Amino acid sequence: MIAIDQNIADVRARIKQATTLYSRESSTIALLAVSKKQPVSAIQVAIAAGINDFGENYLQEAEAKISELREKSLNWHYIGSIQSNKTRSIAELFDWVHSVDRVSIAQRLSRQRPESLAPLNICLQVNIDAEASKSGLLPAEVLDAVSQISAMPNLRLRGLMAIPAKSTDVEATRASFARMNTLFKQAQQCINCSSFDSLSMGMSADIEPAIAEGATLLRVGTDIFGARSS
Ligand SMILES: *Cc1c(COP(=O)(O)O)cnc(C)c1O
Repeated sequence: MIAIDQNIADVRARIKQATTLYSRESSTIALLAVSKKQPVSAIQVAIAAGINDFGENYLQEAEAKISELREKSLNWHYIGSIQSNKTRSIAELFDWVHSVDRVSIAQRLSRQRPESLAPLNICLQVNIDAEASKSGLLPAEVLDAVSQISAMPNLRLRGLMAIPAKSTDVEATRASFARMNTLFKQAQQCINCSSFDSLSMGMSADIEPAIAEGATLLRVGTDIFGARSS
C-alpha cells in the first residue's frame, strides 16, 4: 500500500526546500497532481491531503473521473496530446489545457468552449529541446502563436509548458528550463498581458531544477501516487 498522503508531504517538503534554496516566493509555485492511470480512490486521498488540481492525459479515463468527482470543487488540467476531434470534450470538461501545440487547436478550443463556463486557461506546449519524438511548438514559433492565441475569445492564455529531454544530467535539464524561462519572459513582454503568469514545468524527477528556473506549476505524478501500471 502506497502512502499517498505521506508522498504528498514529502513532495511539499522538497518544494519548500527548493523554494528557499532558490529564493522563490512560495505563493508563486503551485502543485498539480498528475492522476493519469490512477483510480478515483487515490485521487480522494490526495483531495483529503489538500490537493485541488489534477492533471490527466487520457480523455476517456478523465471523463469518468471528472464525472464521479463532480461534487468536489477541483481544477482539472488536460496535459495529454490533443487530437483535433477531441477538442470539444476537452473544451467542455477541463479548466486548464497545458498541451496546446498549434494555433489551429487553440482556435477549435476557443470556438468550442461553452459560453456558460469561464474562459479556458491555456498553456502552449514548447518542444524546448526540439526532439523529433515530442510535440510542441518550436521555440522560434512561440511568440507568433502567443500573439495569435492571446486574442482569441473564450480562452485565457496563461503561459508555457514543457517537458525537457530525458537526461541524467541535472544541469542539462536545468539549462532547458532556463531557456523556457527566457522564452516565457519574452512572450510576457510581447503581449503585455497580466494573466500570462504560468510556467508549467517540473515533474517528479526534476522538481528542483524547475523551481530554480522559475516554474510556477509543477506537474507531479509518480512521486505522489507511485509508479503507474501501464
Ligand atoms: C505523466 C506526466 C507528468 C507526471 O510525470 P511524473 O514523472 O510521473 O511525475 C507530468 N507532465 C506530463 C505532461 C505528463 O504526461
